[in-house]
Amino acid sequence: MINIGCHLSISKGFEAIGKESLSIGANTFQFFTRNPRGGSAKEINKEDINAFLNLKEKYNFKKIVAHAPYTMNLCSVKESVADFSSRVMLEDLKRMEHVPGNLYNFHPGSHTGQGTKIGIEKIAKALNNILWPDMSTEVLLETMTGKGSEIGGKFEEIREIIDEIELKDKIGVCLDTCHVYDAGYDIVNNLDKVIKEFDDIIGLSRLKAIHLNDSKNTLGSKKDRHEKIGKGNIGTDAIRTIVNRKEFSNLPFILETPQENINGYKNEIDMIKGYFLGELK
Ligand code: FE
Ligand code: FE
Ligand code: ZN
Repeated sequence: MINIGCHLSISKGFEAIGKESLSIGANTFQFFTRNPRGGSAKEINKEDINAFLNLKEKYNFKKIVAHAPYTMNLCSVKESVADFSSRVMLEDLKRMEHVPGNLYNFHPGSHTGQGTKIGIEKIAKALNNILWPDMSTEVLLETMTGKGSEIGGKFEEIREIIDEIELKDKIGVCLDTCHVYDAGYDIVNNLDKVIKEFDDIIGLSRLKAIHLNDSKNTLGSKKDRHEKIGKGNIGTDAIRTIVNRKEFSNLPFILETPQENINGYKNEIDMIKGYFLGELK
């Protein structure tokens, strides 16, 4: 079985997003914890959450992925932005305890001119202040393209952040196929090498989720423009290989492809299930 879902709006609540996922053949999903550009989060609705937890149990959902707002930057040169980001993350993670045992993905941050080293130090320091020993959520650093002053375009940078974290069992990685390709990792012609590099530098045991996207741009372009599966430069063959890799089996695959409506995702999920050979290679 392949664990697959897509990014959906949680505006109607957890139960609604769960039902929406079931209706398109998904057994996981991703949602923004709040408006992607920041802002306040919706009130917690216990009834809605309980209804979702029942649904999750009944239909055997895999781990769901919360995505932090894009504007969050734990290592901003502006202290007010960095502090605000820390507060947002802490509040999000406290709220995640209402749906315990799931995943919280975020973009490591942009050093905005301070340099990678200082950026990494600030991110790790912030995480060390935020994470607590008995939290049930795993916090995922997303692999990025490395555009601008973005941190996380190199596996080494992710590793350096993790190295500094005190509560290492709370930290994992989400690999975004569009991002790593745009960052220069050739998952089309050399997937074996990229997986080995990931394992050598970060460790495959840290990999907790895959963002499955095609790319509008070319290898190493550092652009970060997602494309529908099979319509971009990564292409069908590479995606087919990726979903059949034993290293990725059991991970939630989340589509973040540009779709006009939910049917676009339904079709893509059907298509990817069709790629899945059902046995581990
Ligand atoms: Fe992301
Ligand atoms: Fe992503
Ligand atoms: Zn992206």
